[in-house]
Amino acid sequence: MQRTPPDILPVDWPIEQAEPSWPTEQALDRATRVLIAGGLVAIPTETVYGLAAVALDSMAVQKIFAAKGRPQTNPLIVHVADVAMARSLAGDWPAAAETICELLWPGPITVVVPRAAIVPDVVTAGGSTVALRCPEHRLTRRLIAKLGVPLAAPSANRSLGLSPTTAGHVAESLGNRVDLILDGGPCRHGIESTVVDCTTTPPRILRLGPIHRDQLEKVLGQSVVITSFHGEGTPSQIASGAVARSPGMLVRHYAPRTPLQLSTCSAQCIARLVQSGKRVGWLTFQDERSQLTALAASPSVIILPMPLDPDVFASQLYATLHAIDQRQLDMIVVDMPPATDAWGAIRDRLTRASIGPQEKDSRSHDSSTTHTNAFEETA
Ligand code: AMP
Ligand code: MG
Repeated sequence: MQRTPPDILPVDWPIEQAEPSWPTEQALDRATRVLIAGGLVAIPTETVYGLAAVALDSMAVQKIFAAKGRPQTNPLIVHVADVAMARSLAGDWPAAAETICELLWPGPITVVVPRAAIVPDVVTAGGSTVALRCPEHRLTRRLIAKLGVPLAAPSANRSLGLSPTTAGHVAESLGNRVDLILDGGPCRHGIESTVVDCTTTPPRILRLGPIHRDQLEKVLGQSVVITSFHGEGTPSQIASGAVARSPGMLVRHYAPRTPLQLSTCSAQCIARLVQSGKRVGWLTFQDERSQLTALAASPSVIILPMPLDPDVFASQLYATLHAIDQRQLDMIVVDMPPATDAWGAIRDRLTRASIGPQEKDSRSHDSSTTHTNAFEETA
């Protein structure tokens, strides 16, 4: 029997209002009931939409893996309402975690700490640590506070695909695999949280995100290492394991259905692709009007000018890729962003997105594979 599509409930809470509206409270009540009954609710956060289940309910958490098609080896981030709830899930509370939580929470940063025994194995993929985050999105914090228990929530999309930054993206990717979607509007940051392992000295960034290394170093008063891929290597280096990864940091990830290539391509280079019969979407920093006008006249090219500010770029990236994916083009070409820390998270996501589905298996086992995906301007 076909299930009906999930309800999408609008939940707004304008900044100038101290309390959410009555319909929003009712929507949160309904989400609470679904979660307590062991169901799945898609929740807005400031990073991307999450697919939430009560973190202490192993059976409910298991449903997240099934709905996403996510490998059991990839642990989940547990979302909490405050630091006290975070500490109740930790076996030990490192000084770095305390500082991050005090100064950067609520916010788009996740701490990895030793786990407490109450955290189910399914959440941590059987590991001895747990990843914790207190979202800045006050609506989601209110939901968790109403529940009184934490929520395990990875991004609300099928595994390996593009993360959702709107409720519509969630519905499109998960359909009736989710019981209820709370629509809090577009996500402010638009990329996933920074993940920091606080069990090591110095602390290690496992996933680059909206909080950059220099901000973290300033807050902690110590240096921080980056062990995830962050745009300074090639996809084959990540894939071959030459750059250490967090458990579950999969090589191909965050990918649109349309093949994506990172490039240093110019307008002439795109024109040559079109001449060879390709239909191309181009995310570009190029603003040379004379160059772009001729190209824009071609029905085979969609030009998407992208902002030069990395935070604004991040907030638009997935929505742009979702939209362009609908057009069923032959390829998406993305201008390679600058190799600076500020662009690290974006370079990381784009590089993973550029790895083809066939390449991920051979690359992750074959360190001799050379990187063939990005291409250079040859003119
Ligand atoms: P997402 O699937 O977008 O929610 O991403 C969750 C990220 O957090 C993945 O990259 C996980 O590998 C990482 N993560 C979650 N729990 C842990 C943990 N205990 N140790 C290290 N990384 C973790
Ligand atoms: Mg994800």
